Amino acid sequence: MGHESLIMQQSDIGAIADSVKDCLRCGKCKPVCATHVPRANLLYSPRNKILATSLLIEAFLYEEQTRRGVSIKHWEEFEDVADHCTVCHKCESPCPVKIDFGDVSMNMRNLLRKMDKKSFRPGNAAAMFFLNATNPETIKFMRSAMVDVGFKAQRLANDVLRGLAKKQTAKPPATLGAAPIKEQVIHFINKKMPGGLPKKTARALLDIEDNDYVPIIRNPKATTAETEAVFYFPGCGSERLFHK
Ligand code: SF4
Ligand code: SF4
Repeated sequence: MGHESLIMQQSDIGAIADSVKDCLRCGKCKPVCATHVPRANLLYSPRNKILATSLLIEAFLYEEQTRRGVSIKHWEEFEDVADHCTVCHKCESPCPVKIDFGDVSMNMRNLLRKMDKKSFRPGNAAAMFFLNATNPETIKFMRSAMVDVGFKAQRLANDVLRGLAKKQTAKPPATLGAAPIKEQVIHFINKKMPGGLPKKTARALLDIEDNDYVPIIRNPKATTAETEAVFYFPGCGSERLFHK
């Protein structure tokens, strides 16, 4: 037990275990969860993800204690749990012990990043590159590749293949592990990406693309430099796509 608690104390896994330890398994978080599908697998409800997380932590501890080396398979499962969350934080309010599995998922993803155990996904990498880019030319290029080409191609695919996607979308199959490529493609095209997006980012429109400046927008006629101002943070990369 001494060795076990030492591992727990010294690791981020200990903090994750601690954040879910009070779960009563009451299931009040299930119906509000953005990912909850009653007939799908264990990973589609916060309650069950907590069960899975606790079991994985137990497996990590067992392997550490018996000096077998932590199995790569466990990291894959850990990532699968962490990825089944939109981080909407809705599960926190009905929970009697105030567990927010959105925060837990973020901590799990951070741990995977720290341990270099996150798998490479081209879609994720492209989106993160676009969101993290600060050079206006790079942003412009990425935006035209993603919005002008990517979104248009997706919308076209939806027009042509929507009929074929109906079977899967009307009755999604129960899942286990990663979905087959065919199902992933159907999922990708079954709803149209937004169309008619603005041609420029909000920063480009306001001519404030210099990353060293923080924009504070106010009416120069009605206010002075001393007047209180509201700093608008577009957030979530929305400035890159929707400048409203
Ligand atoms: S934060 Fe994650 S687990 Fe919680 S309700 Fe939202 S999607 Fe579900
Ligand atoms: S509502 Fe809270 S205590 Fe109940 S199962 Fe969900 S996480 Fe556990």
